[in-house]
Amino acid sequence: MYEFLLWFQGLSIPIAFMTMIVFFPSWKNRIHAYLFIFTLSVTVNNLGYFLVMVSDNPIDSLWGTKIEYLGKLFISVALLFFMTEYTGARISEYTKRTVAIIHAIIGILVFTCEHHNIYYENGTDYVNAWTTEGLFPHIEFEHGIFYYIYVMMVAGYLIFAIVSAVRRLMNERRNRLKVQTAIIVCIGLVMVLGLIVFSTGIMGGYDATVISYLLCLVLMIIATIKYDLIAALDAVKNYIADNMTEGIVAVDTEGAIIYSNLIAERIYPSLKERDESVISQLIESIEKDEVINIRKNYYKVEQSELKNERKIFGNLYVIDDITIEYNHNKELKLRSITDGMTGLLNRSETVRRIEEAMGSEGVSLVMIDIDNFKVVNDSFGHDVGDTVIKGVANIMLDLTYTYPKFSAGRWGGEEFMLVIPRTDVDSAMEVAEKIRTEFAQTEFKYAGFRTVSLGVTVLAENDDADALCKRADEALYTSKQEGKNRVTLK
Ligand code: GH3
Ligand code: MG
Ligand code: MG
Repeated sequence: MYEFLLWFQGLSIPIAFMTMIVFFPSWKNRIHAYLFIFTLSVTVNNLGYFLVMVSDNPIDSLWGTKIEYLGKLFISVALLFFMTEYTGARISEYTKRTVAIIHAIIGILVFTCEHHNIYYENGTDYVNAWTTEGLFPHIEFEHGIFYYIYVMMVAGYLIFAIVSAVRRLMNERRNRLKVQTAIIVCIGLVMVLGLIVFSTGIMGGYDATVISYLLCLVLMIIATIKYDLIAALDAVKNYIADNMTEGIVAVDTEGAIIYSNLIAERIYPSLKERDESVISQLIESIEKDEVINIRKNYYKVEQSELKNERKIFGNLYVIDDITIEYNHNKELKLRSITDGMTGLLNRSETVRRIEEAMGSEGVSLVMIDIDNFKVVNDSFGHDVGDTVIKGVANIMLDLTYTYPKFSAGRWGGEEFMLVIPRTDVDSAMEVAEKIRTEFAQTEFKYAGFRTVSLGVTVLAENDDADALCKRADEALYTSKQEGKNRVTLK
């Protein structure tokens, strides 16, 4: 029996270590953390008791006992935190810290028991407390006041955890919760059973709690694997992050990328390699208040701080795809400034362009009117008239493609205005003449060959937009008076 228990005790240590390595290679939530602390505490406890079992003198035995008790202290804390986290019962960080500090103080008392009797009653007399009776040599202590405080705390933890599990079950009768509660109750029972077996001495003085701790560990691992609530929450968070319409990039306080979701990586594939130049681009777009244009898409970036009540962790960048909105706005803007039939600028935008161009020197206007247009309408109908209007418009549009600084507008029904910034009289006349000849050479179905009259003027001192337009109109009138199909400069 002794040999078996010794083997069991010895083997439990590497098994606990192995558990830590196998089950927690990437532990990332509180349940894992508490399970990890529990496993580590069980290892310390079992190691301590192993030392007691193999010791052949009271000093080694005492040190073994101390190490064992140290493990026990944190087994109970880890168990409490694990069970409350698992059942969703909330204990504040403040309470957790207080509990941890109390246990650390008890730990110090355990280790300094030669100098006082508050943990072990006959702590200073451990030579006489050493005995070879029972299954193996060990120390038999009377327990001091702090030991009982400790036992009561552990009992309190167990009751608290079991009550909070049962209370949740009462509120939400779901199957998963039933299993959870059953596991928590089992853990509590196993612990109590171990204590009962130990105190009745039916195992010859062997501390049966080490077995119950291992059983608890197994139960806790099963609980964690099967009903890992927080892992499920992580999965939910990842799912949401990867399926949102916005790209998300998080950086730490030093600007290193710590997270990017799928969408962000689709927009910037180099984010997968944690390419920090992406962050500079995002920051630049925020500072300049500009949209980012990648391929045919447009993105708007917003920045917010990553923080909790106490601390700032870094920054979060949300990249919003605003392509549809952007194109829609562009389209709206375009529609508001253009004439639907010809694609030329409308009159109000043409006036705006004239005023804008007047800021520079040498603005010329070329005003155009189709000759005898009423005849076209009257003889061939409105539709044919429209094709002739479009004929002038096309010549003007071609000019704006060749000379992007030109603005071509529809001034009225069959009247047009070409705005030429920064030019001299000769060039303006040349352009007007070119329009006249090109139009005269265009043959229209039904309407045949038509002509236009043009008026040209150049910005003079003290001109306002009205005066400038009026002069162009007068020049055009002169062309009409003098027989149409000609250019007049005024
Ligand atoms: P003039 O040579 O002196 O310019 O004579 P005109 O016949 O061209 O006279 P005017 O410039 O006054 O012609 C204006 C006509 O243009 C009147 C109107 O019916 C026609 N018109 C105005 N807008 C449109 C349009 O969008 N489509 C068509 N088909 N005709 C239009
Ligand atoms: Mg007219
Ligand atoms: Mg006309």
